[in-house]
Amino acid sequence: MSVDWDKTINEILAGTLACQACEALGDEMVVGYTRNPEAAEFATRCQECTDKTDCDARKLVVVCEPCANQYRVNGELMTEAGWMGIQLDECRRNLEESLDYLSTYWKEEAVIEFADMSRKLEEIDPDTFREENGWRSRMEEEYLRIHRWFRDRRLRVPDAAWRSQYVEDVIAQGYTSRLGD
Ligand SMILES: [Zn+2]
Ligand SMILES: [Zn+2]
Repeated sequence: MSVDWDKTINEILAGTLACQACEALGDEMVVGYTRNPEAAEFATRCQECTDKTDCDARKLVVVCEPCANQYRVNGELMTEAGWMGIQLDECRRNLEESLDYLSTYWKEEAVIEFADMSRKLEEIDPDTFREENGWRSRMEEEYLRIHRWFRDRRLRVPDAAWRSQYVEDVIAQGYTSRLGD
């Protein structure tokens, strides 16, 4: 009898979470936030941080209980589906913030004349616009990846109506989205 090892391993790993810090496996892990700079070594949002020794940003992590103690993670035990739901929320928050920035917040950071307040970021500062728009499109890809995870398992996508609302907002501002129409 031949054993399909890939299939067997996938079945064993389905629903299993890995601790981001020590790689321990389990059906449940602590999902939560920490500002501990030591967690910058493994936190997803810190992959692009240049100085990992001194990052006190609020980091979303998934860790085993001993590591949750060590890195002082403010979180709770969750299954894989819980973790995917949290990532979906985080992704949605990032997309909303990015859209708010493109529509108006950039004007408070840039040095512009009042007469230019009705103009758009892409006219005033095309480089910053490209950077922000690139980040938004990476977040949209992340959204689609998480969405597929729920679909593949025939699980309900939490608050599914969020997506069409977001797409309407994007279109109303004259931009495009990978998430619609
Ligand atoms: Zn661990
Ligand atoms: Zn960082």
